[in-house]
Amino acid sequence: MRLIDWFKQLGKKKRAERELTDTDCLDLIRYLENCDVDCEEVFNAIDQYAEIEIRKEDAARLMPLIHQHLETCSGCNDQYEALLDVLAKVK
Ligand SMILES: [Zn+2]
Repeated sequence: MRLIDWFKQLGKKKRAERELTDTDCLDLIRYLENCDVDCEEVFNAIDQYAEIEIRKEDAARLMPLIHQHLETCSGCNDQYEALLDVLAKVK
C-alpha cells in the first residue's frame, strides 16, 4: 500500500478511531522501512539493475531503493543472483 492511500484510509475512519493505534504505527514503520518499493516493483526493475551491475557501474547508487530491497529480501536477492548468472554467461 502506498503511503498516500494509507493516510486516505486513516482519514476515512470515524473521528474517534482516527488516533493512531499500535498496529497503525507498526504498519507505518514497516512501510517506511520498505521505502516505497515492494517485491513486484523490484521484479520489474531487476533486469535493469542487473545490466547496470554487469556494466560495472554503481547500481547501488543509481537505483538505491532496489539495492536496499535486495539487501533485505532474500527472495528477490535469489532472483537477482540467478539473473546475474544468466547475464554473465550471455556476455
Ligand atoms: Zn522482495
